[in-house]
Amino acid sequence: MDLLDTLTAKGLRGEAPTREEALAVLATTDDELLDVVAAAGRVRRRWFGRRVKLNYLVNLKSGLCPEDCSYCSQRLGSKAEILKYTWLKPDQAAEAAKAGVAGGAKRVCLVASGRGPTDRDIDRVADTISAIKEADPAVEICACLGLLSDNQAERLKAAGADAYNHNLNTSEGTYGDIATTHTYADRVDTVQKAHGAGLSACSGLIAGMGESDEDLVDVVFALRELGSDSVPVNFLIPFEGTPLAKEWNLTPQRCLRILAMVRFVNPDTEVRIAGGREVHLRTMQPLGLHLANSIFLGDYLTSEGQAGQADLDMIKDAGFEVEGAGEATLPRHRADVAAAAAAGGACGTAGGGCGPCGGHGEEPAGGPAEAPGDAQGGHGCGPCGGHRAEPARDEAPAAGASDGGAADGGASDGGAADGGAADGGAADGNPNGELRSDLVRVRRRGAGTELAPNA
Ligand code: SF4
Repeated sequence: MDLLDTLTAKGLRGEAPTREEALAVLATTDDELLDVVAAAGRVRRRWFGRRVKLNYLVNLKSGLCPEDCSYCSQRLGSKAEILKYTWLKPDQAAEAAKAGVAGGAKRVCLVASGRGPTDRDIDRVADTISAIKEADPAVEICACLGLLSDNQAERLKAAGADAYNHNLNTSEGTYGDIATTHTYADRVDTVQKAHGAGLSACSGLIAGMGESDEDLVDVVFALRELGSDSVPVNFLIPFEGTPLAKEWNLTPQRCLRILAMVRFVNPDTEVRIAGGREVHLRTMQPLGLHLANSIFLGDYLTSEGQAGQADLDMIKDAGFEVEGAGEATLPRHRADVAAAAAAGGACGTAGGGCGPCGGHGEEPAGGPAEAPGDAQGGHGCGPCGGHRAEPARDEAPAAGASDGGAADGGASDGGAADGGAADGGAADGNPNGELRSDLVRVRRRGAGTELAPNA
């Protein structure tokens, strides 16, 4: 298929497809699906080998949010019978994080519901970061606290946070349909603040909210332009008690096409399957690992995922391996960019407010002489020159272009919409628009409860 050959060649060079090509991926048929997965899988292996990064969510503050995000079980007016509690103490959060790390997670995502943190909240989170890093300094910490005010990102960075999550969720054109208490521009601003402070930017989307293919492509290209280092792809869990409770639009095949499109547009970026993995991909979850290089371990913010051991078994059975604490997630050229930004160097991202550059040549399949010089808009940054991409170890480049081988905002961001759902249920797309409360299991264990997590 010409389209897939073209997209594979571009992805192996770290280049994005055109918008039309991205739309064409979403329009492929079921007969073509395995070819699509195989093509995007080559791109995934080029940059990430067979590694799977595990992330673990700790919901520091659950429910009681004044914002009105329609997909969120923690929203204003939500009747979802979720756990509701205020800030966990640092030692409680550290205890919860320990379970995830023991299960293999290298990143802990600290999430709090609400529009955005107060300065006192930043103090609380700083104490929590200290408690977690005291136990294990190697753990990556991502904070997800909603819209940031000036200087809060810098304070989180100084406290030891490595990353900040704030999802764009959907296209700019339809953002007003899913939330009215803040804007798409507010979200972009927070991602830029985080990146400007030297935090790795984590920003993603939610699919299945009734959006068009064009909306999906818009938001995925916007995330590339923002320079997001990790892109969580959430599949809406229609929580009973929320306005989107009857939006059952996704099939496993649709989810795989979306993941493939995200991978082609962001070839060398961490792509994470986030909330909704179990309920929408179901028995097709292992195929998702050929596209994404990162998942959440265990439960989500307000709903339960499959058992952590089932996640580990799936990774092993599918021929992948859990990424170790000592292994870099991003390819070296991307990690160099992030490190330079963290050090206040000239090289950040477009989202961090600097201009276009042409300096990031990917190490091409055929060697440096073929370097395309990147200049992909997505990672455009100030002049810095010369970062060469380095392929994953087990995907040795071959000749030519062929390879070789969440105050917000918080909450639902992060685990998104949040989150997961019952293990393995049988949700077909639900054209009748019925509630499927049998498929959404509210979290009753882990952080904020007396019960142990399932990580
Ligand atoms: S997504 Fe965040 S800001 Fe929106 S309702 Fe949920 S917790 Fe509140």
